[in-house]
Amino acid sequence: MSAVPVAPPESLEEYAAATASCTRCRLAQGRTQVVFGAGNPHADLMFVGEAPGFHEDRQGVPFVGQAGKLLDGLLAGIGITRDDVFVANVLKCRPPGNRDPQQDEIESCEPHLFRQIELIEPKVIATLGNFATKLLSGRPLGITRVHGQEQELTIAGRSVLLYPLYHPAAALYTPAMLKVLESDFARLPGLMGATEAAPLEAVPEPEPAVEAPAEQLGLF
Ligand code: URA
Repeated sequence: MSAVPVAPPESLEEYAAATASCTRCRLAQGRTQVVFGAGNPHADLMFVGEAPGFHEDRQGVPFVGQAGKLLDGLLAGIGITRDDVFVANVLKCRPPGNRDPQQDEIESCEPHLFRQIELIEPKVIATLGNFATKLLSGRPLGITRVHGQEQELTIAGRSVLLYPLYHPAAALYTPAMLKVLESDFARLPGLMGATEAAPLEAVPEPEPAVEAPAEQLGLF
């Protein structure tokens, strides 16, 4: 009896390659490239932000601009690096002028995020800001209400701990927000089952931002 060959399960890398030519929504027209996500494909901790900005669109990597530097500092504060985690966004393509994601764009892009979660199998998903939090919690509660409050959920068929956090860009507009982010980040090692949280290092104060206030950007 001849054995029927069984295709190996798709890898995250294969899925990224398939996603690179996505035309599921209008954002395909204006992008430089799809920003799939980056980091450890088997990470226990996954971060989900909002959408690529100018620098992310150019470089093809999430969180490489000012907000990304803050994210790196916050990760360093708990003793982890980008290589330990996987970082992705709700939208994989840059909205024009960095405007908010639109509902139909979120719906078009959602299968990519859910497939990523299925393939990575993180234990903890930390959502950065309102868009990721509302999408993955399935609830309309804003980040001001729910930040720092973990909840066990079934996402992409698996039980995960969802941990909503303010978007790091919030601290660019409201520097006091950095303390809130630091204290919410400090709980991450414990949530991931680490025996002891790494001591907090101070994150450098961000340069004051000159753009629109955080409320206007939907960060709170
Ligand atoms: N903000 C996001 O939400 N994602 C990025 O990749 C960069 C900035």
